[in-house]
Amino acid sequence: MIRGTVAIVGRPNVGKSTIFNRLIGQRKSIVDDTPGVTRDRIYGEVEWLTQKFRLIDTGGIQIEDQAFASQINMQVEIAIEEADLIVMVVSCKEGVMSDDMVIARKLQKTNKPVLVAVNKVDNEQLQMQSYEFYQLGLTNPICISGVHGIGIGDLLDEIISKLPEKQIKPYEGITSFCVIGRPNVGKSSLVNAILKEERVIVSDIEGTTRDAIDTSFKVDGQEYMIIDTAGIRKKGKIYENIEKYSILRALNAIDRSNVVLFVIDGIRGITEQDKHVAGLAHDAGKGVIIVYNKWDAIEKDDKTMDKIKKEIRAQFLYLDYAPIAFTSALTHSKVNQLLPLINLVHDNCTLRVATNVLNDVVLDAQMMNPAKPHLGKQLKIFYVSQVSVEPPTFVLFVNDPELLHFSYKRYIENKIREAFGFEGTPIHIIARARN
Ligand code: GDP
Ligand code: GDP
Repeated sequence: MIRGTVAIVGRPNVGKSTIFNRLIGQRKSIVDDTPGVTRDRIYGEVEWLTQKFRLIDTGGIQIEDQAFASQINMQVEIAIEEADLIVMVVSCKEGVMSDDMVIARKLQKTNKPVLVAVNKVDNEQLQMQSYEFYQLGLTNPICISGVHGIGIGDLLDEIISKLPEKQIKPYEGITSFCVIGRPNVGKSSLVNAILKEERVIVSDIEGTTRDAIDTSFKVDGQEYMIIDTAGIRKKGKIYENIEKYSILRALNAIDRSNVVLFVIDGIRGITEQDKHVAGLAHDAGKGVIIVYNKWDAIEKDDKTMDKIKKEIRAQFLYLDYAPIAFTSALTHSKVNQLLPLINLVHDNCTLRVATNVLNDVVLDAQMMNPAKPHLGKQLKIFYVSQVSVEPPTFVLFVNDPELLHFSYKRYIENKIREAFGFEGTPIHIIARARN
């Protein structure tokens, strides 16, 4: 369970992406001496003392051809909007610069916790220089060195202790879903189309506070929640169209949902950016429905749908479990199929199968097609147990977990799906040694 989102802000070259990489423990973003180099990866998960949080490097969110001042402005605003805690990075090498003061002044106005990390404190002598950062009027500076890994543990302790207590949990007893996709695929049109269906009773649309951005509604006594409808509806804000920013928003929405509607623009067809968005849904382990929208605007004959289905399957191999819906938010065509699909997928995400039947299925599969020996050793599955739901997770108790090859895992997964369905939900399979 993710405890919240932490954003790193600061002017270029203070060491934000170095620290980001250090914290997420992988070299996922590009570090370069040129200020403002575009980074590939701007978010990741950090685990510290059994706590997990999401980390964003706002330095990686950029608008092309914008002046430096407006870039910084945007980064700080996004941090204030999206994060639960902000780490402002400064550099003891350069000392307090006027751009640092500009950022600090903006951060002084937020009521979210702000930490100051003085970077490039590569040795103890340099610590004295950190005092000048009291001028920023924020909290006590924490000395670190991103390159040498000094003080990183202290920074993490401080983050964990200041991160507000807040559990991001899907709503209990309600089916919650979000609608994600590139800008202009028709997300807000779809939400409006769903809410205009005859039997829908909306109880709360667009609250004024940040927490009331979810819309709840009832159909035939069943309650649903659309997550982050404000994000979907809010139009005309320049940031909304920045890909990296829309991805951050999507991540937060996915966290709080049971089912994700991943929307593709039928007029444009599948793009690279769609693949990125689809990956988010799959990685999160949530139920997924692929919605091919703007179906009204496509020239078609009786073969078109099958052709597109094939193309979707080929482009999103890992989403082979996700059902595909063809909709038009404009004419409302097939929009009424979405709620029944959401119900089905949510049921599958929470499905528990009987242990004896599960064991019959998996052990039969093994008997029909035993694993190929690896380095002279043969995998042996003794029994299986479903340990959790959302996503359904199965533990295979085996002689040696190292022997479970990817392709054999896939085979077992397919057999489980053949027997029990699980349409719309990823399933996880883990091997453990039998004691
Ligand atoms: P960003 O623009 O704020 O993301 O900064 P980068 O992470 O790209 O770092 C800018 C430069 O500062 C790079 O040359 C880094 O190697 C260097 N740098 C980062 N952290 C440290 C540090 O702790 N000590 C020293 N001496 N240099 C650092
Ligand atoms: P969002 O940015 O993903 O929320 O997309 P919008 O809902 O704002 O839609 C973007 C544009 O696509 C608008 O001009 C919509 O009228 C149009 N649009 C949305 N859904 C459909 C559809 O099913 N068919 C057609 N023809 N246009 C659509």
